[in-house]
Amino acid sequence: MKVEKVEVSGNKASIIFTEVEPHVINAFRRSLIVDTPKMAIDNVEFHLGAISDDTGRTYESTTPLFDEIIAHRLSMVPVPTDAKALMAGDLKYKGECTCDGGCNNCQIMYSLNRRGPCTVYSRDLEPLGDERLRPLDPNIPIVTLTEDQGLLIYATAHLGIGKTHARWQAVHAAGFRPIPNITIHQDKVKDPERIAGNCPRDVFELSKKTLKVKDQDACILCRTCEHEDLGGIGAVTVDADTDRYIFRFETDGSLDPKTAILFALDSLSARFENFIKAVEDLK
Ligand SMILES: [Zn+2]
Repeated sequence: MKVEKVEVSGNKASIIFTEVEPHVINAFRRSLIVDTPKMAIDNVEFHLGAISDDTGRTYESTTPLFDEIIAHRLSMVPVPTDAKALMAGDLKYKGECTCDGGCNNCQIMYSLNRRGPCTVYSRDLEPLGDERLRPLDPNIPIVTLTEDQGLLIYATAHLGIGKTHARWQAVHAAGFRPIPNITIHQDKVKDPERIAGNCPRDVFELSKKTLKVKDQDACILCRTCEHEDLGGIGAVTVDADTDRYIFRFETDGSLDPKTAILFALDSLSARFENFIKAVEDLK
């Protein structure tokens, strides 16, 4: 397997693999999804009973949703994961940390205190301590409170992996496809405007009424351009390399794509190391 190009832009990454079989890339894809660790809220404590504000007015600690639904929504809110600490091995899983009851290396604590009428958003989660640990997207709606309703909770985030629950899945939309080869046979092109206009991914362009490929990577191999109604059989042929693939994924922002890739590769190689050791230990 060879890697022709790795591109990371914000939360998105694209990689071009050559001389590779699809199952090898798929192993990497699965590792990215299930083995990459991130922080996520997995414990929510709800205040029960009346909630008072500064003026002494009281609110009922009740909402239109069950507590379980609110806890689940909070668990899916992406919270930052310290990539440096993660790579250095300083972030610990719950139960692996040597602290007593939780510390900065194994948990993030949030409080949320809102009174209705209002909509509670992810931005209402206040980190206890480091302000940089605010949720990455402030505009995720959680629940709408009506008059006299209040919500006071304490939430705790821990480190986990996607294999355990989707709340710990940092990588999304991970997929790959063969890279297309598009050939235009100019002598057979009868209606270049129609071919370019019918492409759903805007792959073609016209240059002085001549059909040209503008963006080969955008092609999804739908073969609409090959259709005979579009200006002559054989005007355009599309085929795909069987050993050259483009792989794309994005993260939910809690982790950068580079860290996710490094963790997935580490996890894959660790599995094979265990396998090698098991075979070496055979008598
Ligand atoms: Zn700890």
